[in-house]
Amino acid sequence: METAGTAVPLVDPYERTITYLRVSVTDRCDFRCVYCMAEDMTFLPKAEVLSLEELERLCNLFVDLGVRKLRLTGGEPLVRRNIMHLIRNLGRRIGDGLDELTITTNGSQLSRYAEQLVDAGVRRLNISIDTLDAAKFKAITRWGDLDKVKAGLKAATAAGLHIKINTVALKGVNDDEFETLVRWCGDEGHDITFIEVMPMGEIGAEARLDQYLPLSMVRGRLKESFTLTESDHRTGGPARYFDVAETGGRVGFITPLTHNFCELCNRVRLTCTGTLYMCLGQEDAADLRAPLRASDDDRVLVAAIREAITRKPKGHDFVIDRRRSGPAVGRHMSVTGG
Ligand code: SAM
Ligand code: SF4
Repeated sequence: METAGTAVPLVDPYERTITYLRVSVTDRCDFRCVYCMAEDMTFLPKAEVLSLEELERLCNLFVDLGVRKLRLTGGEPLVRRNIMHLIRNLGRRIGDGLDELTITTNGSQLSRYAEQLVDAGVRRLNISIDTLDAAKFKAITRWGDLDKVKAGLKAATAAGLHIKINTVALKGVNDDEFETLVRWCGDEGHDITFIEVMPMGEIGAEARLDQYLPLSMVRGRLKESFTLTESDHRTGGPARYFDVAETGGRVGFITPLTHNFCELCNRVRLTCTGTLYMCLGQEDAADLRAPLRASDDDRVLVAAIREAITRKPKGHDFVIDRRRSGPAVGRHMSVTGG
């Protein structure tokens, strides 16, 4: 299916073709992870949030424009009401422009949804788990329940979903568990990716500087227990992967603060309010909600998307700066979805 004006793919000024869209379908969440949200978050009023139909229209247009991979994230995507309706409809584009539909989730709702996700065409999930210790899990997520997440993980595995675990490396919190997590993932057949804490959004008392742990240190520590061989596995994202000889699994590292991965960036991010961020680390954005709601004519929307892509910056510049008290980027991760 082709909409008027979509024949030419999206290519930015640095010759990068945009083939990957991450969509934050809600800013709400059933957890309050300390690095992501303040406990007393104020969420967006409903009128500002795109309806599922509006999100679907936008996603379809991006697929028409050459996006081959869609990742739904949030907030927690699976807490949005009727989310399966959107997932099922987007799943119909697999093989019709779309190669893959994936989801990043905290896993809390997977017992309920795992099989429906497979039926909709989803094959892979990223599930965020920072610790295997129930008390620590509670402390990090504030509202989360590790047993529930583990049950969800089990349901997802049983349903045949391929799972990658995302673990944020937190100094003094889970840095004694990296080896355990890698072994556990090896045993369970999951890949694992470690993520550095990024300075996004005001999150209250916990100072991010105290949480920050460079992944070079994580990797150094893992090398004491495992043989890591650099892998040519690539997902088009910022992660660098290593094969773990001892477990047969793979471990990835996402190091936005210490490495530049922007040259190959093929992605843009859409928030649940219809704001398009061309770069996770920059404030510049384009409002797609106004053109979306102004007209049923997709050409208006395509023009707005194309204009936004001409503004995709060369790269980001995250810094955790001791002299600066606030975050480098003011919005929360739950807005753009990571
Ligand atoms: N709720 C889902 C989840 O937790 O997987 C999806 C949204 S969450 C914002 C996406 C990813 O961003 C999670 O893996 C989470 O750990 C990570 N994240 C959140 N805030 C972060 C921060 N300040 N720095 C680095 N990663 C962060
Ligand atoms: Fe929710 Fe995910 Fe943010 Fe945790 S990281 S508060 S689960 S959106």
